[in-house]
Amino acid sequence: MNPVRDYKAMESVMKKKNSNGMNVIYMDNNATTKVADEVRDAMMPFLTELYGNPSSMHTFGGQVEKHIRKSRESLAALLGCDSSEIIFTSGGTESDNAAIKGVLAALPEKRKIITTRVEHPAVLALCRELQDTGYTLVELGVDGRGQIDLDELAGEVDEDTAIVSIMYANNETGVIFPIDKIAEIVKSKGAVFHTDAVQAVGKIPLSLDKSNIDLLSLSGHKLHSPKGIGALYIKKGTRISPFIVGGHQEKNRRAGTENVPGIVALGKAGELAAKEIGLENTKVKKLRDKLEAALLKTCTGATLNGDKINRLPNTTNISFEFIEGEAILLLLNQFGICASSGSACTSGSLEPSHVMRAMGVPFTAAHGSIRFSLSRYNTEEEVDFVAGKMPQIVNRLRELSPFVK
Ligand code: PLP
Repeated sequence: MNPVRDYKAMESVMKKKNSNGMNVIYMDNNATTKVADEVRDAMMPFLTELYGNPSSMHTFGGQVEKHIRKSRESLAALLGCDSSEIIFTSGGTESDNAAIKGVLAALPEKRKIITTRVEHPAVLALCRELQDTGYTLVELGVDGRGQIDLDELAGEVDEDTAIVSIMYANNETGVIFPIDKIAEIVKSKGAVFHTDAVQAVGKIPLSLDKSNIDLLSLSGHKLHSPKGIGALYIKKGTRISPFIVGGHQEKNRRAGTENVPGIVALGKAGELAAKEIGLENTKVKKLRDKLEAALLKTCTGATLNGDKINRLPNTTNISFEFIEGEAILLLLNQFGICASSGSACTSGSLEPSHVMRAMGVPFTAAHGSIRFSLSRYNTEEEVDFVAGKMPQIVNRLRELSPFVK
């Protein structure tokens, strides 16, 4: 493989250059997404001339309020709920913290929390910290496909359970949990149900009015709006205390001067997602399936991680046995290809991800797991390009691997 020559060859395929002039094939959309042009245009006036504070008495500030209302309505339309059930936050992490800590504060007599071993740290690290302060924590395990056992869940929810927090879709594998069934089980036992839907919103249709979900977190930067804006859905009647205390914004449910450009952006992104959601299951899924089929066929030692059927349409997580995910990413990076690995480099030691470990993926495969997460902005040419490069990368790394005979 000659990276320099290959990079040049790639230029004819690639259309996207970032501001540094670097070519990019972006397949890391579960990490963050490109801000849609329509979203950027919608938020621009609120970064320039419309800078008033929506709480101000004067018309200049007050005129901003109606744009916040419109954003709340478009997000509610995407989620199938009432606009009064949405509060804006700074992102997924805050929404998760606000939901869990807010319910615990409102129900001080209940001391048990239930979650899963495959949650994002925004939930898992928080729950473990709460356990250190005296709460009982149950972390449900998953099977080899990344699914929980619903009977085990039903057996764990009891009178002492304040909240059950289970993600809608996993960020590493894309595995979708049967959330409506889960919510039904939890509600039938009288506990509050929260779902971290950061990876699901905008990728699969949701209708909260028909579900037993009490609280749902989402994050703008996963659906083509900027970072630092998110929302928490709170079903009417849910007992929850405010997480951030101060001014009277968001009807006393989340203090702090509103991030108006972010809110407007998220509203626009929600509107676009509602319009484009059909593409996720047609265009995006087709591209993902094409890439996945090619990699599984042409790359030595490749296996799929997670539930092949119940999965986000944009995500594929593949292990390449006996090689390091980080090494694959570095070589992909030489071609401007952005993806993610299932291991995190912590203080020099490579730990396979907690999701791969929970699923029981063998050590030698967990270390070589790569996530490709696509969006409606990817093209078939990009998929073909990545599919063409991966076998060379895998073969080269396997030649260097001490584990391959
Ligand atoms: N939850 C999940 C499932 C995520 O994937 C992420 C981000 O990757 C978060 C929560 C955190 O969201 P944010 O980056 O908006 O704080």
